[in-house]
Amino acid sequence: MNQLYGHETTRQRFTESLAAGTLHHAWLLYGMKGIGKHTLAEQLAGFVMCDSQTACGECHGCKMLTAGSHPDVYRLGLLEGKRDLKIEQVRGVLSFLSLSGAESGRRVVILDDAERMNNQAANALLKGLEEPSAGSVLLIVCSDLERLPATVRSRCMLQQCSPLSDADVQAVLEQQENPVQERYLELAVNLADGCPGTVSCLQDEGIARALLEWRELIADPVSADIGKIENWIRLHVKTVPHLLIARMLAQIIYPSLQNACDTVAFENREALQQALHKCIRWPGDVVRHSLRAGPALLACILQLRTSLREMKTA
Ligand SMILES: [Zn+2]
Repeated sequence: MNQLYGHETTRQRFTESLAAGTLHHAWLLYGMKGIGKHTLAEQLAGFVMCDSQTACGECHGCKMLTAGSHPDVYRLGLLEGKRDLKIEQVRGVLSFLSLSGAESGRRVVILDDAERMNNQAANALLKGLEEPSAGSVLLIVCSDLERLPATVRSRCMLQQCSPLSDADVQAVLEQQENPVQERYLELAVNLADGCPGTVSCLQDEGIARALLEWRELIADPVSADIGKIENWIRLHVKTVPHLLIARMLAQIIYPSLQNACDTVAFENREALQQALHKCIRWPGDVVRHSLRAGPALLACILQLRTSLREMKTA
């Protein structure tokens, strides 16, 4: 199992109540995408399944877990290509929980992508939350708490997971099976913004190089060469994750907005802020409104450029 960085508080709270025999039967691990919530859940499951509850790595329980063949651990999440987590999947959990632990007398369920449960699925899960079977622990992983019904939330032990420090992000990126190359590490750490999972695509050198180029192209949007930007977009908008393209723009523009506080007219600041929000919303807007990604991005950049210019000349 990968070593886990960050999330010490959650891990400590979990192991303490496990040792004290007071572990809540349903933990809801929530927080931004890409910060390692799933890896955390796997590690917490490791504590439960270990014969000495220490995730020792040596005992029968630990070895079975590492081999991926522990009969008392059940995992579910969004299936590839599906929009929702379906009721059939949750029913699988309930029948698993009604069995007695085959090996250990303990059972762990890791429910990933919980925010994607449809209503039926969430209602089915409630049953499992209301009547927990002895020795079972449900680890629910969720990156959008608002989308989870309050009835589910209120029956869980809520545990917020925070973005990682830059040092932890770097450690995660370095220990990946296919690590980000050293020359792109600084770029990846900056761009991750505490969420290493969102930049694992920088393992692909083509994407990493394209993002470095992007950073240079947009470093000074006011005097940027629009022809070159257009060309970059045409070449890379299909392969480089939109989230990262937008995040880099935001990282470059945001300081100008902050620095503009006192000296700049309200309308100019307002215009820049709107242009910036348009960039941040661009990845979502492309999906929601079926926009053509390239032209929509170019429009964002032109609007940014105009508002920055007006701010300078005002
Ligand atoms: Zn063990």
